Amino acid sequence: MRSPLPDYLTEVLSVCSEGKGATSDHIPELKNADPDRFAISLVTAEGVTYSVGDDDTEFSIQSISKPFVYGLALEERGFERVLDAIGVEPSGEAFNEISLQRDTGRPLNPMINAGALTAHALVAENKTPEYRIRAIRDLLSSLAGRELEVDEDIAASELGASFRNVAIANLLRNYEIFPDDPDDIVAGYVGQCSVKVTTADLAMMAATLAGGGIQPRTGERIFSRSVVRQVLSVMATCGMYDAAGDWLSTVGIPAKSGISGGIIGILPGQLGIAVYSPRLDEHGTSVRGVEAFERLSHDMNLHLMEAPIVSRSVLRRRTVIGEGSEAFTFLELHGDIHFTNAEGVVRALVEEPVETQRAVFDLTLVRAVLPVGRRMLLEMIRRLHLDGIDVALVDPEEQLPDPDAGDGYRPRVFTTLDELRDEFAGSPE
Ligand code: GLN
Repeated sequence: MRSPLPDYLTEVLSVCSEGKGATSDHIPELKNADPDRFAISLVTAEGVTYSVGDDDTEFSIQSISKPFVYGLALEERGFERVLDAIGVEPSGEAFNEISLQRDTGRPLNPMINAGALTAHALVAENKTPEYRIRAIRDLLSSLAGRELEVDEDIAASELGASFRNVAIANLLRNYEIFPDDPDDIVAGYVGQCSVKVTTADLAMMAATLAGGGIQPRTGERIFSRSVVRQVLSVMATCGMYDAAGDWLSTVGIPAKSGISGGIIGILPGQLGIAVYSPRLDEHGTSVRGVEAFERLSHDMNLHLMEAPIVSRSVLRRRTVIGEGSEAFTFLELHGDIHFTNAEGVVRALVEEPVETQRAVFDLTLVRAVLPVGRRMLLEMIRRLHLDGIDVALVDPEEQLPDPDAGDGYRPRVFTTLDELRDEFAGSPE
């Protein structure tokens, strides 16, 4: 069988309108981009790439670098220092707005230029622009899974026209948001924006965020889970600047655009997407990029606010096995144990109390236990024990390691159903 996915993506390429918008005049060199280039790449959480159109065309990453450099600053300097310097409130303004918080001079968020210049500075204080560009290029390369280069022509072209960014950097320096020379910060930031990528690179970088910070191809952990959560939150609220609300309601996933014509989007846990088409709208965002994302979101049900299908109870089976003092209640759980799923189990045990002296939770088919699920399971075990019931677990995958239920009580743990059967006669196969 031939995979239908490339055919589907090719169809999206062909139906998205042509001709609207114009290449950026913000950076002289970007004006020369071929306006008809169009590519879509998709990388799954398992690291599989589906890519169509001009997916080997390299273009400068521009503002799509911002979320990754913000992540690097968080890793290098810690949350406290970074949140102290850069806010997380959407500005509702254009990317290059000269907007700093009154009194403190703190940039509103890391996606607008004021915040991105600050994140760039935080990566390595008082170091040369070359040092910071190198560190950021290394980061972007490990995210993409290949060595990326800086487009020196684009960098020179932007640097020669950076009057506005130089003004913003000087304001930031005036408020002592960073200690560095503002010209150095702009030079480094321009280098950061000029790293050359393809949509396949960007989708891989996005997939790393989708996978909680682990690069799906190399397996390298690049960001911690808490940094990824922070980066994605800021992308969702601020990534599309003054069109962030429109984007979140229509497309519904965290995203970031760049004025060279790229857009990335992330569906946490599932995939990273990148689109490239250099004609821009009035927000500096790719016209066909937005259209393609709207279609993908609709066709692939990507919208994060779409209520997921309510999962059936995780209590798959409840049976009483055996008689008299040998009798036990067998509770087979499956799927993911998060809050509402655990609540279903709690309710089942409250509404229909366990009437045997012994109970067994079988976790063989459980896929994942969230921290809240763990706390609730252990509390159920503690309360069953208070009611005089002895609890055992079957837990081959160690979904509930070190099950200390409190009050000095630990349920017995069997690693297989076979093992359980030796002592709990009549246990299911
Ligand atoms: N290098 C560009 C700038 O700072 C990036 C802007 C963008 O892509 N939105 O102005």
